[in-house]
Amino acid sequence: MPRWVRQIVFGDVDAMYASSAIVANPALAGKLVAVGSPPPRGIITAASYPVRRFGVSAAMPTAQALRLCPDLVLVPPDRPLYQRMHQRMREAADRFFPATEWTSIDEFYADATDLQSVYPDPAALGRAVKDALFEATGLRCTLAVATGKTVAKVAADAHKPDGLVVIPPGTEATFLAPRPVRSLPGIGPKTAARLEGLGIHRIGDLVEPRCEPTLRQLWGTRLYALQSLARGEDHDPVLPDREPKSLGHETTFDHDTDDLAVLERTLRGFLSELAHEVRRDSLAAGSFTVKLKDAKFKVTRRQRHFPAPVNYDPAMWQDIRAALRSLVVPRTRYRLVGLSLSALVPATERLFDQRTTKAMAAMDEIIEKHGARVMRCGGMPEE
Ligand SMILES: [Mg+2]
Repeated sequence: MPRWVRQIVFGDVDAMYASSAIVANPALAGKLVAVGSPPPRGIITAASYPVRRFGVSAAMPTAQALRLCPDLVLVPPDRPLYQRMHQRMREAADRFFPATEWTSIDEFYADATDLQSVYPDPAALGRAVKDALFEATGLRCTLAVATGKTVAKVAADAHKPDGLVVIPPGTEATFLAPRPVRSLPGIGPKTAARLEGLGIHRIGDLVEPRCEPTLRQLWGTRLYALQSLARGEDHDPVLPDREPKSLGHETTFDHDTDDLAVLERTLRGFLSELAHEVRRDSLAAGSFTVKLKDAKFKVTRRQRHFPAPVNYDPAMWQDIRAALRSLVVPRTRYRLVGLSLSALVPATERLFDQRTTKAMAAMDEIIEKHGARVMRCGGMPEE
């Protein structure tokens, strides 16, 4: 299976509140469950899928919901229960992904680009994640794999509940085109109604030349960003909402550069300083991220795991240099380079033999006094 340049996973639990109530109280299984507060003043917070088929939806007065669905079983909201479920889902997702971005209690994005060597088939990855989340919580989710966040989100929304969908690279625009405009994130119900009044119903209409004058009047220059989304072009990175413990340095060059030697020298300098800090705190790094920003301000990152947690820079440099070389695009000028060390764990004695430890301690003392640039570990050739 060809490798994807970027692979984004979006997961969304199906009717999380109602489903959690059923997991917590199996006697509710098979009943028409909705979460909410009682009539006359109460409203529905969340409805299970069977209840939705009666026309019941969130924010509806409970009295009205009971008229639509007389056998409805109302359960009160239980925040601690949802939090426990959320925590278990996080733990399950963290076993797969280096980082997750939870956009709500039951929705997350994850970058699976670097998991492709382990899961060359995105459907197999999706299946494994769905199963792991179910095992951890008893909750079903819908999961989508695509090259960007927008397409993954739209795809998951279109395949609920208990769905698994893969939108292969190159098919994004075709997938999006027939979908209603309101399914595109960023287009709210009001905007959607306005667009429909103008005869613009499908996402594909947003990139139709005949619609462009109307759309430009509506959105001005914002149109071009929306058209990119409508074509499925979306480079928005996954932003971990809980920063893993990490240390990092980055620098913007005075002049953009396409010189690999300059990029390597800069990263190597950062590595000396960061590894020193990691050793000083008696830690070791399990992974690292190389970051580049090109002259057009496009940011690319490569995150990798070390074979084992390490804090001795010569042992780290080969992997970091390889990651940099795989990230650099020929004839591209870069304005910024950065390096961070993450997955920091307490260093074990076994990391080096005693002799190396003493040598490193002596070197760290010198770095502490004079800075990293005066001294370098062996194994990192000078330019
Ligand atoms: Mg959900």
